[in-house]
Amino acid sequence: MGFLQAALDVSLCRATTVAPAGASHAPLPIRASRIGASLAARAWRIDLRDHLIFPGLINAHEHLHVNAVPPLHADAPFANSYAWIRAFQAHFAEPAVATALRLPKALRLRHGALKNLLAGVTCVAHHDPWHPSLDALDFPVALLRDYGWSYALGWPGYGPPVRASFAATPAGRPWMIHLAEGTDAVAQAELAQLDRLGCLAANSVLVHGVGLRAADIDRVIASGAAVVWCPTSNRNLLGRTLDPRRLGAADRLALGSDSRLSGARDLLEEMRGITAGGELAPAQILALATTAAARILRLPERGAITPGARADLVIVEDRGNAARSLTGLERSEIRAVVRDGVPCIADPDFAEWFAVAGVDTVPVLLDGQRKLLAAPLAEPDLLALEPGLELATARNAPERAVEAWCP
Ligand SMILES: [Zn+2]
Repeated sequence: MGFLQAALDVSLCRATTVAPAGASHAPLPIRASRIGASLAARAWRIDLRDHLIFPGLINAHEHLHVNAVPPLHADAPFANSYAWIRAFQAHFAEPAVATALRLPKALRLRHGALKNLLAGVTCVAHHDPWHPSLDALDFPVALLRDYGWSYALGWPGYGPPVRASFAATPAGRPWMIHLAEGTDAVAQAELAQLDRLGCLAANSVLVHGVGLRAADIDRVIASGAAVVWCPTSNRNLLGRTLDPRRLGAADRLALGSDSRLSGARDLLEEMRGITAGGELAPAQILALATTAAARILRLPERGAITPGARADLVIVEDRGNAARSLTGLERSEIRAVVRDGVPCIADPDFAEWFAVAGVDTVPVLLDGQRKLLAAPLAEPDLLALEPGLELATARNAPERAVEAWCP
């Protein structure tokens, strides 16, 4: 059973399948919501010539439920995240913030997930308490499950206690915590503090790590732990971020957008920003959001297009340089985002794929571009929370579309 529907057997033909390790031009079989080992005899074929197929992206750090909360614009950069959190307490009294936080949590979680899906993210690590609505069959993204977490060493009032949470997490499952989110001595001391607590191990996933110094990064790599890099959030709150090169070369770095409270619009914007910065090559940036994230978060069914993996895919036009074709993209330029072998949002010429998969669609505009959105994801309350996404109507749709959508 797939995410929206029992998926049919599909063959994606003539495209180039991209992974950090290389590219393939063979037809890509999807069987029962997973990547197949061989083509089904009666598979429905889609001609994707001049297209690239990437694995669905993994966002390794997100707080899904606060993506529609207005950000704090004051007094940055902060020396550490605790100073920001304290400043943010007063921000809760702002009418716009209070209004945003009064919306049902289930709706806010779903909005954060839709934000991710629109940008090609099909799996998210939600760094917050579990909520029953995350288990909905039509929740817009897959989630990291069966993981342990604490919030931060210096903010013990929120989230599970550090030592107990780490001890309760099996060694084969990831354990997440904000660490060294700052530039001052408080942040710089946190890795040693975590180590003394006995909570630095190969399953420790350290979010932010801005205050890690060279010796700390040696220690992280030696322990087999990993860091989740959230560059935009770090720059907005702290004025700078970490140098990704050593952790990236050691395959101990994943990428997170964080929520829009402090972070980028979405993971694609992060990837574009990193590309522009030139610290990592496009293929390395792609690895952060695919293969490296899957290894660090212990997601063996995700991050690569291999037989047996979930058929979660991002389809884009081939612009010549494979990895750059995704790392330089805006969300409206994605041709199709696919979960469990079924399109969720795609350009209108994919209408037949939605139809044969049995997925009803709604015409929308995404940043001014015509798209078809799977109907279960098009609730008005949800769309209302996402800037740049709206139902296509006779008034706002480009002229050609009006004819087709509003007979
Ligand atoms: Zn977090």
